[in-house]
Amino acid sequence: MELYSGYIGKLIEELEKLPGIGAKSAQRMAFHIINMPQERVNRLANTMMEAKSKVRYCKDCWTLTDREICGVCSNPARDKSTIMVVENTRDLAAYEKTGKYNGVYHVLHGAISPMIGIGPGDIRLKELITRLEGDVNEVIIATNSSLEGETTAMYISKLIKPTGIKVSRIASGVPVGGDLEYIDEVTLLRALEGRIEL
Ligand code: ZN
Repeated sequence: MELYSGYIGKLIEELEKLPGIGAKSAQRMAFHIINMPQERVNRLANTMMEAKSKVRYCKDCWTLTDREICGVCSNPARDKSTIMVVENTRDLAAYEKTGKYNGVYHVLHGAISPMIGIGPGDIRLKELITRLEGDVNEVIIATNSSLEGETTAMYISKLIKPTGIKVSRIASGVPVGGDLEYIDEVTLLRALEGRIEL
């Protein structure tokens, strides 16, 4: 016999698959949704479907955007010869918030992690190498200072070194294991300005 309703059970099951949502939270959310006015539930479901179908990857830097080319890449004032490599779109947003970086980005969508089987082929590295065939002066590696971030930074620097393009790594003012998105703007800027050539 179902404890309450098969439909609620299914909803809980789906919510539990979301990151950071445990069994208890999923249950609370499911009952909350059932008690919400129909119109709000519709809006939530539609917003999710719309975001999923409309958001795509920028053709140049692979960040998530509503357009073919994102706002940063399509801005003629940005310096296309400086590429900052970040792990995800949230990190890009953190640097954009400082308003002090004038180059462009490359979003990897992850980091190399042999522990969980994520290799160089699983992130947007090939796409970065292709971009380097253009007019590039410097690649700034701004992956996180976690083990995965450092492994990725080392891998990228080894790949780029032979091309003669300048490769630098943001300074370690960023706490070890700290996610870039949680670090304040001043620390981010200090890390960028104090970057070390590899
Ligand atoms: Zn872009």
